[in-house]
Amino acid sequence: MDDLRLAYQHIIAYLEQHLGDDPIYSWIAEETRRRGLPTIQVTPVQGRLLNLLAQLLNARYILEIGTLSGYSGVWLARAVPPGGKLFTLEINPACVEVARESFSRAGVADRIELHLGPALETLAMLELPDLLDLVFIDADKDNMRSYFDWALERVQSGGLIIVDNVPVVRADIVESDDVRVHAQAAYRFNEHVFARHANWGTLLPFYRPNGDLIDGMLIYRQP
Ligand code: SAH
Ligand code: MG
Repeated sequence: MDDLRLAYQHIIAYLEQHLGDDPIYSWIAEETRRRGLPTIQVTPVQGRLLNLLAQLLNARYILEIGTLSGYSGVWLARAVPPGGKLFTLEINPACVEVARESFSRAGVADRIELHLGPALETLAMLELPDLLDLVFIDADKDNMRSYFDWALERVQSGGLIIVDNVPVVRADIVESDDVRVHAQAAYRFNEHVFARHANWGTLLPFYRPNGDLIDGMLIYRQP
């Protein structure tokens, strides 16, 4: 395991060195840390993937659940064409405050609607376009399945539902108890997705630079 971790550290260092982008991303990461918020934003590799997929889809309407400080939101919003919109939902006022600043510094505030509150409540009252092109789910894991099932009703054919932090290691080899409990619940979520249709999409494993666990990003394509 230690050799593996060392190898991953080299890979991550290499990627972060070469896949950085303009300084807004490092500003967001630094500001997140400075304010004592969890630095659990997606990695630059994942941010680029989100941006790339949104561009390939010509995504006009994107919904993100779990804004944190706006890191993934900036990657997504930069793919949105004029007239399009990123809706992003966040429960923590301290996060919303940083995210607002991130979006205006990045020059994408005009393309973003940021909503404070528990996502399920916000979704129940928010006025959204009838069909969304992409939904990125990256908030509380207990509601993952509710968010996904909600998205199934709202994402257009050919659109994507992307879910961050789904498990890719067997729950019984995970070390700590809380992670194991989380993983067991989340496995049922994975199975729910795998069972939908044969060509549902894919599940990519990513290393967490700040943790000891490999987790997955699930990419589901609406048939
Ligand atoms: N997408 C972000 C990271 C999100 S971290 C990025 O990659 O940059 C998860 C976020 O979900 C946290 O900021 C947390 O406050 C928020 N969250 C947790 N429960 C929530 C809920 N019920 N409704 C909305 N947001 C929630
Ligand atoms: Mg995440």
